[in-house]
Amino acid sequence: MQQIPPLWLDPETHLARHNPDHPILYFSPRVLHQVAQRFQAGFDGVVTYAVKANPHQAVLSNLVAAGISAFDVASPAEMAAVRLASPDAVMHYNNPVRSMAEIAAGISQDVASWSVDEQSELDKLAAVPRDKEIAVRFALPVEGAAYDFGSKFGAAPDEAVALLKRVAAEGWTPALCFHPGTQCEDAAAWVEYIHAAKRIVEAAGVSIARLNVGGGFAANRDGVAPDLERVFTAIKGAVFAAFGANHPQLICEPGRAMVSESFTLAARIKGMRQGGDMVFLNDGIYGGLVDIRDMGLPGRVEVVSATGNHRQAARTPRVVFGPTCDSLDRLPDGLPLPADTQVGDYVLFPGLGAYSSAMSTQFNGYGLSDVATVIELSGQARH
Ligand SMILES: *Cc1c(COP(=O)(O)O)cnc(C)c1O
Repeated sequence: MQQIPPLWLDPETHLARHNPDHPILYFSPRVLHQVAQRFQAGFDGVVTYAVKANPHQAVLSNLVAAGISAFDVASPAEMAAVRLASPDAVMHYNNPVRSMAEIAAGISQDVASWSVDEQSELDKLAAVPRDKEIAVRFALPVEGAAYDFGSKFGAAPDEAVALLKRVAAEGWTPALCFHPGTQCEDAAAWVEYIHAAKRIVEAAGVSIARLNVGGGFAANRDGVAPDLERVFTAIKGAVFAAFGANHPQLICEPGRAMVSESFTLAARIKGMRQGGDMVFLNDGIYGGLVDIRDMGLPGRVEVVSATGNHRQAARTPRVVFGPTCDSLDRLPDGLPLPADTQVGDYVLFPGLGAYSSAMSTQFNGYGLSDVATVIELSGQARH
């Protein structure tokens, strides 16, 4: 019979029972379902998931169960992961630079939509069946995201006009797409991009079936839940203002905001020095904490003893190091931890579902590999 892994009440219960000496991600499918519902209820269009944020099979299959039927993929390996979770999932292949072998894989996996941002890349897509969509990816010099994706991909608007004309002339279904960046706290980038999309459509004289507004929706980083609905409303308002009631169908492809809250990472304290000012964890920037190096310290961290109790003392800022022998393996300075924190305790980092296990390496023999499933991610109220 198929083995069904146990479902734990919360991370604290699991930590107290097993005292794991390796870092663990705790996954709450319930939280993932809630966020998927929120996107599907609030976003006025097709909600897809950007697989790169977390390609774990449990994430993909729970998203399918929550009603997500289309996925943003960037490689043949991501296509295979999606097919495993759902044989009839719709795939949007939105990595605009592809080898010929990758293109052949996309065609054989029946990719429904391909993005393109350069003439030479469009030349390579000649064998893509004409009943598929090709979305021209454009980029504006917009600020406001934690980092700017436009510096790597995306055609300038005048180039996008030429590409859109060629897509239509060659018989594919023309569309436009953009990706405003990641962790965009503010809706202004989307509004600006949507109005630019309208100008590109007008200049090309091509009508588009769909407009893909990318990912980049913010996750909770400082303890304040982002107001996704405000961003959804702004996107809808901009699309109506630019295109009118007959607007193209919208697509979004959240990665971070979809999966972030459904995982909490627990790392164990291996050692403390200088009266506790220096803390050494069994996970770091080469493991599941890589996104903290790039995005800054999180606002929500809990310390739990080996018996599963939350440390409650006043907090003092610490310098936190990862387990590898590389001096770069260090979090941004000043993570506040309770004064009664001890060696053997666990530091819980909530909101680490995105860009954690997906980017974790096995450098120096460390890294993330274990996931436990829990009902609740925050057992704090019980302790
Ligand atoms: C990375 C990526 C996403 C997801 O971005 P998030 O910031 O995680 O929401 C969506 N679309 C494309 C094309 C991407 O490259």
